[in-house]
Amino acid sequence: MQTAIATVSIAGTLDEKLEAIAAAGFTNVEIFENDLLSFNGSPADVKRIVADLGLRIVTFQPFRDFEGLPEPQRGRAFARAERKFDVMQELGCDLLLVCSSVAPDAIGGIDRAAADFHELGERAAARGLRVGYEALAWGRHVNDYRDAWEVVRRADHRAIGLVLDSFHALVRKTDLKAIRAIPEDRIFLVQIADAPLLDMDYLSWSRHFRCLPGQGDLAVDDFMDALQATGFGGLLSLEIFSDRFRAGSARAVAVDGHRSLLFMLDKLRRHAGGSLPGVVALPNRAVCHGVEFVEFAVDDSFQPGFETLLRGLGFRRSGRHRSKTVSRWSQGGVNLVLNAEKEGFAHSYLAAHGPSVCALALRVEDAEATMARARSLLDQSYTGRIGPGELRIPALRGVGGSLLYFVDHRSAALWETDFNPVSDEGETLAAGLARIDHVQQSMPYVEMLTWLLFYTSLLDVAKAPMLEVLDPGGIVHSQVVQTADGALRLVLNASQSRRTLSAQFLDGIVGSGVQHLAFATDDIFATVERLKAAGVDLLPIPENYYDDLEAKGLASEEIDRLRRLDILYDRDGAAEYRQAYTKSLSEGFFFEIVERRNYAGFGAVNAPIRLAAQTRFARRPPPI
Ligand code: MG
Ligand code: MG
Repeated sequence: MQTAIATVSIAGTLDEKLEAIAAAGFTNVEIFENDLLSFNGSPADVKRIVADLGLRIVTFQPFRDFEGLPEPQRGRAFARAERKFDVMQELGCDLLLVCSSVAPDAIGGIDRAAADFHELGERAAARGLRVGYEALAWGRHVNDYRDAWEVVRRADHRAIGLVLDSFHALVRKTDLKAIRAIPEDRIFLVQIADAPLLDMDYLSWSRHFRCLPGQGDLAVDDFMDALQATGFGGLLSLEIFSDRFRAGSARAVAVDGHRSLLFMLDKLRRHAGGSLPGVVALPNRAVCHGVEFVEFAVDDSFQPGFETLLRGLGFRRSGRHRSKTVSRWSQGGVNLVLNAEKEGFAHSYLAAHGPSVCALALRVEDAEATMARARSLLDQSYTGRIGPGELRIPALRGVGGSLLYFVDHRSAALWETDFNPVSDEGETLAAGLARIDHVQQSMPYVEMLTWLLFYTSLLDVAKAPMLEVLDPGGIVHSQVVQTADGALRLVLNASQSRRTLSAQFLDGIVGSGVQHLAFATDDIFATVERLKAAGVDLLPIPENYYDDLEAKGLASEEIDRLRRLDILYDRDGAAEYRQAYTKSLSEGFFFEIVERRNYAGFGAVNAPIRLAAQTRFARRPPPI
């Protein structure tokens, strides 16, 4: 299969789009007519730019409201088609995409439409051109690919073929079985798009909410399996109408597009039993066993207060780096790294974003295989400076330019190799923090789907349904990706409002990144008692919250205990979740403590309470 992308999928002017598409490694492009009409140059200029970029125009689209018209509209439709053919010849493109008519004066009837296409086929063939017919989900008479195929079949012309579009078939829940029976050489083009499940009219859904395969909820993989059964080896093109992508970076969306196709085709290859012609075989998605460490870039003014907080939370300094001003803080299975170097990656990160999390290290089954898959998926690798005898840990660029390290059995000796143990600082009383429960990253809304695809394509994780959480400053969209066993739980948050705490955090650190880190304890009451005794400033929760908890069937002694310790509570059947928060540090970073008893969620019901409490204690008033 050859891959392509439609210019409508990304932001910018036509020349900017084409450059981004070529830079992302595509060689085929669909030209959307509006992009050409708004371009300040002739079709011949576009042809030259496309050729200079090493691209090929595979389709010109769309041609609307063609079939089934009465005279004199019918004659005019053919005249319009001839003008499109002229443009195509100037562009150097041989396939015109005709979508099913929505014209009020169009007359139904498969044979009438087939006769129109037969005649169009004659005219196209006379110029060495071809025409593909696509059923729009909202087409007036043809809105099902099976009807479009019947029109093409009866048109019985070698220049007339079918265009399949996953969106139109999947949103209407059309049976996909009939695809399997279509001769592959009659399918001129396949367009691929995913979308979130929404309850709205097909046209608005299609024009505003499409997304890349894997980013939405449609059964794109089932569609591809059906297509694969035909033996189709032709053009597979992304056609993504998205308000988000139109507001995003053309280059980033084009790379995401290429990545989504590599990921989707690799899944198809696996379903097909191992190998498919023209499909790159990727290594397996990385099995992840959790977070090995979280690294903070710190400076001299931030570090002392932060270390006091860490001690209060029950951490102790357990190691000092052999060659760098870097220390390791440990408790249970949690490792935090404080990097105070005056040069290198962490220092640059600090200069750009202030004290913040500059890297995460994931424990994976095989770090080299993870990196090999990442490179195949066009992820950006990173190589930093290491001292003599120190381990090189492979890394990628992650959210906000931070690093994502991969640690495996080869780097198991990391702490012994790169760090000297510290034993002279006395004992800290541990607080029962056993492991990292989840890592929450905040990012601009337009980047959310990028990072969703990044994680799901690389790691063996699944996405949970997207949640919307009410912040006093607006809605925060929250997307969880996690391993089946919960060893890795990542929460991606974004909002379109500038007044949410999530958005203020982005303003504060001038970028994206980890806004909170949640530690798991097996006894949150003991842990929080310990933190309060150690003077840790916990987020006060309003009294009213606890009055409401009786409805959840809690005994009054337990409610009193939760109230006294500022612990939030949720239950899901017999599963229970308890959570507490530190007050926010500079720019809105905070820690969370959770106790999870068979509970799968993240206390979304409590999030508005927590966000309101944090807003009250925010250092800066929200912008008006
Ligand atoms: Mg389409
Ligand atoms: Mg949380």
